[in-house]
Amino acid sequence: MAYLQKLTGAQPLKLRDFDPEFDAGLDKETGEEKLEKLSAELTRQQELLYAAGTHSLLIVLQGRDTSGKDGTIKTVMGPLNSLGCQVASFKVPTAEELAHDFLWRIHQQTPGKGEITIFNRSHYEDVLVVRVHKLVADKVWRARYDHINAFEKLLADAGTIILKFYLHISKDEQEQRLLEREQDATKYWKLSAGDWKERTYWNDYTRAYEDALNRCSTPHAPWFVVPANKKWFRNLAVAETIVSALRPYEKQWREKLEVIGQREKAAIEEFKHSKVTQK
Ligand code: AMP
Ligand code: MG
Repeated sequence: MAYLQKLTGAQPLKLRDFDPEFDAGLDKETGEEKLEKLSAELTRQQELLYAAGTHSLLIVLQGRDTSGKDGTIKTVMGPLNSLGCQVASFKVPTAEELAHDFLWRIHQQTPGKGEITIFNRSHYEDVLVVRVHKLVADKVWRARYDHINAFEKLLADAGTIILKFYLHISKDEQEQRLLEREQDATKYWKLSAGDWKERTYWNDYTRAYEDALNRCSTPHAPWFVVPANKKWFRNLAVAETIVSALRPYEKQWREKLEVIGQREKAAIEEFKHSKVTQK
């Protein structure tokens, strides 16, 4: 069963129509059991993707502070083989990055064939934080939706499977998580005064996210809004969406492996034969 709706840009959305508490009527225990099965399946899919070497997988994670980007990476991607899987985190751009176009630093981190890359924040920051804080002129960030769509089309045409997740938490949930961090010494390192400040721009971010989701949802690079107040459901929904998106490719990856296997077997036979005739 699909937990998340695939957004392809056909109809404009409003975030208030998505309930951050949604859990598909499951309980935590059932959710965690389902996640375990999906993790095993995802691990097998990664092996196929890696060995076939015909596609790459790019997962984009966006969300407000405390929405659980790090937690999702740890839980959903943790079981994957680190050979062929990497995380790219995008922070405030360096002077060198700012001296280039906004996609320059992003393109360097996209996955090669057979690889999986998870973007912890992404090129979307350039139409989110940059817009909210007016870091560039209006016409500069406005032009970026088209740039992003063209860039993602380029990646898709080169065999990249792109899945983009917006981790959707409520304003109350964010407050609770920020307060929890202040009470837990093991979470002090996550504290940032900036997070409380960003919170005052909540509505501006809502508008910026809605525009990004509406303007940049395409069939080849869809967005998914992930109800993320419940961490276990967030993890389950993301894992289920990735596994379902990869299933249609499995047959062709297996066929590719068969071809590679046969080719290598034939090469070994030929080698053995040549050694016999040399004797
Ligand atoms: P964190 O993900 O908590 O480590 O924080 C990274 C910070 O970098 C966030 O506050 C982002 O909004 C900020 N950031 C990421 N990309 C950009 C960008 N292109 N321009 C400005 N700030 C950015
Ligand atoms: Mg932060």
